[in-house]
Amino acid sequence: MGSGSGSLVWFRKGIRIHDNPALEFASRTASHLYPVFVIDPHYMKPDPNAFSPGSSRAGLNRIKFLLESLVDLDLNLKNLGSRLLILKGDPAEVVIHCLKEWNVSKLCFEYDTEPYYQALDVKVKNFALAAGIEVFSPVSHTLFNPTDIIHKNGGKPPLSYQSFVKLAGEPPSPLTTVYSSLPPVGHLGSCDIFEVPTITDLGYGEAEQDEFSPFKGGESEALKRLDECMKDKKWVANFEKPKGNPSAFLKPATTVLSPYLKFGCLSSRYFYQRIQDIYRSMPKHSSPPVSLSGQLLWREFFYTAAFGTPNFDRMKGNRICKQIPWKDDDKLLEAWREARTGFPWIDAIMIQLRRWGWMHHLARHSVACFLTRGDLFVHWEKGRDVFERLLIDSDWAINNGNWMWLSCSSFFYQYNRIYSPTTFGKKYDPNGDYIRHFLPVLKDMPKEYIYEPWTAPKSIQTKANCIIGKDYPIPVVSHDSASKECRRKMGEAYALNKELNGLVGEDDLKNLR
Ligand code: FAD
Repeated sequence: MGSGSGSLVWFRKGIRIHDNPALEFASRTASHLYPVFVIDPHYMKPDPNAFSPGSSRAGLNRIKFLLESLVDLDLNLKNLGSRLLILKGDPAEVVIHCLKEWNVSKLCFEYDTEPYYQALDVKVKNFALAAGIEVFSPVSHTLFNPTDIIHKNGGKPPLSYQSFVKLAGEPPSPLTTVYSSLPPVGHLGSCDIFEVPTITDLGYGEAEQDEFSPFKGGESEALKRLDECMKDKKWVANFEKPKGNPSAFLKPATTVLSPYLKFGCLSSRYFYQRIQDIYRSMPKHSSPPVSLSGQLLWREFFYTAAFGTPNFDRMKGNRICKQIPWKDDDKLLEAWREARTGFPWIDAIMIQLRRWGWMHHLARHSVACFLTRGDLFVHWEKGRDVFERLLIDSDWAINNGNWMWLSCSSFFYQYNRIYSPTTFGKKYDPNGDYIRHFLPVLKDMPKEYIYEPWTAPKSIQTKANCIIGKDYPIPVVSHDSASKECRRKMGEAYALNKELNGLVGEDDLKNLR
């Protein structure tokens, strides 16, 4: 152990060959290379009690996306004379066992800012260093190193996008390494190596899910999708968010590269560079925060805020999160989660989440606002949990950051600006095609009633084969009175937060929570 010139490269995210500094370093002078991915059964195991197919932590769509990404990585490694070694078990224990069994002098893996990986990596790193194994753990999941930004900002993360952008500057370029081959895999000792499992191998039935996400995992898909997007230079140069149609589902209004960035099938530095190449050839282009490069900077912003904020994923003990007395109402939460709110725009989005694991940014806005400060006044952490499990792009920093944003708990405070569950979607899709697709029970409802089917006369409901209260639910709340009540409660909570802020210092406030 620690004496040979073998290297172990441990894939977790960063499931790619291009712009992968850990892989590049691991393979540079190695006689043998061990490319490893550890499947944690807890992450994958079917949960019979979950409300939709998947494990307790991940919906089946995301599990499938990950497995597809691993198959693709394995193929790409095989083309270079290597292969992916799949192991199973507790990731720290498994990697430590491999380090004991294999003759390696280098352990290389992408640095990860998520609390789960921070804890995991300390264990593995400590073992490796004590065993005389060199550890190389570069930052390559994000454009910037969040630690550097926090340092530049005097030890605290910048909490506004503008201040973040000012501090960040230009990101480093991606690596340009092109491999003709990789060092062969060494002797495997007593480690059990598996092929990438299928979802059936993991215990999921064939007919587990009625429709799978149309987005397939893997670096090859990611690069293909990126090329497709970059072909339309005008579209890239003029990209502006939040403009764009959240109800467009046949051809989504944004790139749908988020799941590939989440798993690192696509390097954010490479993505950023490709956008900059287009900007150079089209000087009249949009700018951050609304531009496409600006979207990648939003990602960086949330990563930095998350890394520098203790308890970022909860309200209590989180110094940047407003303390709001959210309601504990499981019935309302279930109606929202299971697309039974009686508001077709909201329910269609929640069905898209369950079937595809992806929805447009403004669709996410609509349902997150509805659940929290807009209508139901349910805790943002509950909605966060549902997104965290079901999104294929589920990302700890971005998801928590956006839920705090949408619930007006942090970053954004205009709680009077509420998305209407009946008129917002109509602006983009007056005919309700999006609703008809994801909620076929309403497919024959005339367009005059598609956003508010409870207002349709009984004769129309009968003709449309959809009786409200029988075939499709009556709304769980009246939007007018519910949103008014939400505004009142938010006003009270804000006043109280201000009062507390005035009475005690921010540190004392932390202790009070
Ligand atoms: P594009 O518009 O094409 O943008 C390109 C990339 O920029 C995205 O892939 C993403 O990496 C990044 N980006 C875009 N918008 C944001 C944003 N607001 N914040 C941070 N990064 C952004 N995004 C996730 O990747 N994972 C999540 O778990 C997630 N949870 C969300 C929860 C809520 C309540 C809301 C409102 C938004 C959430 N988002 C999340 C942010 C955003 O909706 C998605 O990143 C975006 O819709 C993905 O589609 P796209 O790749 O086509 O985006």
